[in-house]
Order: sequence, then structure tokens, then C-alpha cells
Amino acid sequence: MNPTKNEQMIVLYWHCLDMKECDERFLANAIEQLCQFLKKEPTRLAVHPKRVKDERELVKKVDIILDKIRNQPDEFERGAWNIVEVLPAAAHLLVYCMPCSGIAKVAVRFKNEAEWGITYPYGLTINSFAAVYQRGNKFVVWHEALHLLGANDCSDCHSAECCDSAHDIMQHIPMPENVRNWPFLCGKNVTRIQRKAKYLTHV
Ligand SMILES: [Zn+2]
Ligand SMILES: [Zn+2]
Ligand SMILES: [Zn+2]
Repeated sequence: MNPTKNEQMIVLYWHCLDMKECDERFLANAIEQLCQFLKKEPTRLAVHPKRVKDERELVKKVDIILDKIRNQPDEFERGAWNIVEVLPAAAHLLVYCMPCSGIAKVAVRFKNEAEWGITYPYGLTINSFAAVYQRGNKFVVWHEALHLLGANDCSDCHSAECCDSAHDIMQHIPMPENVRNWPFLCGKNVTRIQRKAKYLTHV
């Protein structure tokens, strides 16, 4: 008997919307790199990256919903829920698009401070959706991907012992100049990610 038979696999789907081939390579590498980090201490987490384009049925459904979102400026929240409904259990989706994309405009309209990316819903949800619309900054990709996996913004940590928010990836402006090497997460976020993983793998 396989002891892990009843355990759900955590999947991180990624999808490029109206992007170039080089953007697709950039995103694939960023996601792969993060999954490699997550395997190590302190998270020790198996997250499986998958390209939406490789799944014909899923890509159709996702593209229809993304199209709806960008054409209905007040429907971000409903659209995000529609997207998570088409994902398999314990799977999350990160969409990468241009800052001028309709998705970015609708996301910022929904949440003003979501200047580079947005994740919704997040926390202990079975599926989550994120959009990243800053081009070429893998730190923003990692920030939103970690929201998908259960991390909160460091501004919500409120704890000096826990948080080096000037160098955490979950800070307001994650970029190469101000984020330390892996593990670039504070203790509270490591705990949140592990808690969500435990929840997800047993749904
Ligand atoms: Zn954030
Ligand atoms: Zn922190
Ligand atoms: Zn913290």
C-alpha cells in the first residue's frame, strides 16, 4: 500500500495572457525556482508547477473567464471565484499579463494597493487565483505565488521578533535590491504556508 495515496498534490498552475515567448520562459523559470526553494528548509514543501496551456480543457475555461473579467470592470471578485471553481482541488493559478492588460486594470479597480499583482481569494482556501502584471520581476511572481500558498503580507505580521519586513519577500515592494536570499520568509509566513499545505493535502 502506498501511504501517500490519500494525499492531495499541491499544484501551482501558471498561465501567460497575451505575452511573448520570452515572458513565458521567464515565468516558467521563476515558478520552477520557487518550487525548488520550497522543497528546502524551512518549508520542505512539494509544490508541482503545471502550465495551463498543457491542459486543453482547462485553458479553454480559464481563457473564457479571464476574458469576462477584463470586459467587466466591476466583476473582478466574481471572476476570481469563477476561476477557482474550474481548478482541481488543491490547485492554484497564477496568471501573468502586461501592466496595460484589462486584467490589471480591473484588479487595481478592485483593490487600489494591488499595483503589481493581486491574489484572491487567499488564506485557507482550497483554490486561489493570482494575477501578476509587473513584467520581468520574479520577486513579484514569488510574492503572489506565496500568497497562493498561504502567506500574508508582512505588514500584517506586526511582530518585530518575527519579521524582517525590510528583507522579506512578503513586503510591499519586493525586488532584487531589498529581498534577502532564500529563505526570504518570516517565521509566521512559514507557519501559514505549512498550515495551508497540511489542510490542502488532506482535503
Ligand atoms: Zn501581498
Ligand atoms: Zn515577514
Ligand atoms: Zn512576520
